[in-house]
Amino acid sequence: MDAAEPPRLIRLENQIQPYAWGSRSAIPALLGVPENGKPQAELWLGAHPVAPSRVPGGRALGEWLAEDAGARLGAKTVERFGAQLPFLLKVLAAAEPLSLQAHPSLEQAKAGFAREEEAGVPLTAPHRNYRDANHKPEIICALTKFEALCGFRSIAETVRVLDAFGVDPQLLRERGLRAFFERVMTDKSLRLTTPAAGTFDKEAALVKKLSAKYPGDVGVLGALLLNHLTLEPGEALYLGAGNLHAYLEGTGVELMANSDNVLRGGLTPKHVDVAELLSVLEFTDGPPRVLKPNARGEYETPAPDFRLSRIELRGEHTFESGLPQILLCVEGGATELPKGASVFVPATERVTLKGEATIFRATPGL
Ligand SMILES: [Zn+2]
Repeated sequence: MDAAEPPRLIRLENQIQPYAWGSRSAIPALLGVPENGKPQAELWLGAHPVAPSRVPGGRALGEWLAEDAGARLGAKTVERFGAQLPFLLKVLAAAEPLSLQAHPSLEQAKAGFAREEEAGVPLTAPHRNYRDANHKPEIICALTKFEALCGFRSIAETVRVLDAFGVDPQLLRERGLRAFFERVMTDKSLRLTTPAAGTFDKEAALVKKLSAKYPGDVGVLGALLLNHLTLEPGEALYLGAGNLHAYLEGTGVELMANSDNVLRGGLTPKHVDVAELLSVLEFTDGPPRVLKPNARGEYETPAPDFRLSRIELRGEHTFESGLPQILLCVEGGATELPKGASVFVPATERVTLKGEATIFRATPGL
């Protein structure tokens, strides 16, 4: 390689978010570094201003990308999203449940952001709902067994669960899920009884776990209304706008639009805004689709902002797309990409890796 030629793979230095629910061991184990005794909840790979990845020399990825957007992000991405990376990739390591939450659509985010700007709510205020004007669809792909609550159970199943926990399902039967959920989230007088042992054990264990941490929280009954799944490694869930969800435990790779817009309904010490959450929720019911990668390793979702792929490298693989890419090695190792390492690949580059490895790849979904 000519000495003046720029490197084809840009090694990333990434930041870790030490949120209290984080595992102390999972992210250090992935990165091959000692634990520091503190929770390490999320590793952020991308250009989000809150915790940007850095390129060699120490500059923030976003700043470096904007400098030569045509070559680094590519014409297609710039045309659709402007001179910025449209996605944020994370490794999420949960030792404890995260909040009950949903994310807005693009229209809702634009309107919500404008409303809070108009009202003069500071961007960093704890009660700020919309920190940007973007939607935040996301996909979570399990690295370990990964337990999650996602979308409302079928009505028939919900009625059985409510009966078992001593909650009258009449309002649900008569006026539907939206009216019933509004009642659940606003009426603190609703009480749950414990079902007989041997029936609804999984649900009873969930209620016990959540109530121990958040006693009296309306989110405990809210959580009981959701599908409770355990993903196997490699399985994924796509969460579109308005999907109510909570991650409970496990390590996964998460890819999302470049946004921080979260509306919370409970199970958190952070800001909760039930009215705003209700205004964005989708009240469809039934089990969610568990996604598996297609023959090219891609998880198919409708999001234009991102596409996640999981590539089992056995020998040699060429990464080529005309799109900007972030590659992250989570298992094994490849030339120039050992376990735990991550790189940015400019849109104009074509990269061939050799080795035995599991590699996650993030690109725009264009
Ligand atoms: Zn979420």
